[in-house]
Amino acid sequence: MTTSPRFIVHGGAGEWLNFDEDQVLAGVRAAAQAGWDILKVGGSAGDACEKATNILEDHPLFDAGYGSFVNSEGEVEMDALFADGSIRYGAVAAVRRVRYAISLARLVLTKTDNCFFVGDGADQLAASLGVPLIPNIDLVTEKEYALFREREGQRAPRPGLGTGTVGAVALDQSGHMVSATSTGGIPDKKKGRVGDTPIFGAGGYADDVLGGASATGKGENIMRFFLCKLAVDGMRGGTPAQTAARAALNFLATRIPEPNVGIIMVGVDGSLGAMHSTAAMPIAWVDAGGEVQAAMRYQGWFD
Ligand code: ASP
Repeated sequence: MTTSPRFIVHGGAGEWLNFDEDQVLAGVRAAAQAGWDILKVGGSAGDACEKATNILEDHPLFDAGYGSFVNSEGEVEMDALFADGSIRYGAVAAVRRVRYAISLARLVLTKTDNCFFVGDGADQLAASLGVPLIPNIDLVTEKEYALFREREGQRAPRPGLGTGTVGAVALDQSGHMVSATSTGGIPDKKKGRVGDTPIFGAGGYADDVLGGASATGKGENIMRFFLCKLAVDGMRGGTPAQTAARAALNFLATRIPEPNVGIIMVGVDGSLGAMHSTAAMPIAWVDAGGEVQAAMRYQGWFD
C-alpha cells in the first residue's frame, strides 16, 4: 500500500523582528521544495528531512549550522535530533566542529548502537565516521560575530527569543514518519547550555503509528512538558495534526505564563499541523496539490 507523502518545515518560533520576511520565507520554501523533490518520487522521509534541514543549516538567517547563535564564549554549540517513526533516534548536543549537526544525529542512529552523543565526544564520533571537522569560526557569520563583540563591550544580554531553529517532519510513500530538528540554541546562552532540541519527545518525536512533530521556541519550557510527545499522543483516536498541535499549545498556556513555543506536525492520516505562541514562526509546507506554500504567522487549517 502506498501513502500520499506529506511534508512541512519550520524556521524557528520567535519574534523575528527586523528580518527581511521575503528572504526568510524564500529560505523555508527552498528547504520544503528540496525535501518534496525527494518525497514525490518515492524517496524516504529521512532523506527528505535531512536534505531540507541541511539547506536551512547552510542558510545564514537561520539559527542552525552556519548562522547559529554564539554562546557566552563566542562559540557555536549545536544540538540536533533525528527522530525515526520506529521510535528510535539519534541525537547530538553541544557539537562544535561539524557543518551539519542533523546529519551527525542521523549517523548516530544509523551507525552506532547508541542514541545520544555530546560535546567533544560527538565531534570525535563524527571524525571517526568520516565527517569532515571544521573550525568553529566557520559556523559564525560576520553579523553574529559583530553582535557578540558589541554585547561583550556592553555586557548587556541580547533581548528576545531565539529565532531560526530549523525542523522538518515528513511522511513518505511507504507510510514512514521522520522528524528532524537542528539548532544553535538561544542567544546569549551560557557555554554548555542545552535546550529541548536533542531531547527525544521534547524537541522532536516520530511514531509511525500516530505521527511526527518538531518543536521550537523556549527550550526550557518545551523540555518540561515533552511537547512533541504530548502533541503526537494527542493524535490518538484519529485527531488531526492541527487539532493536536493546538491542544498541546493550549495545555502549555494553562500551566505556565508565556510558553513562547511553536510546533509543526504531520499525522499518519496525512494531516498537517503548525501552531506557535510566539510573534512569528516561518513555515513552508506542501499542499494537497503538491505546491509549496509558506507563511510567517500561520494559525489556520491545512488541506
Ligand atoms: N528550542 C531551541 C532551544 O531552546 C531554540 C529555538 O527553537 O529557538 O535551544
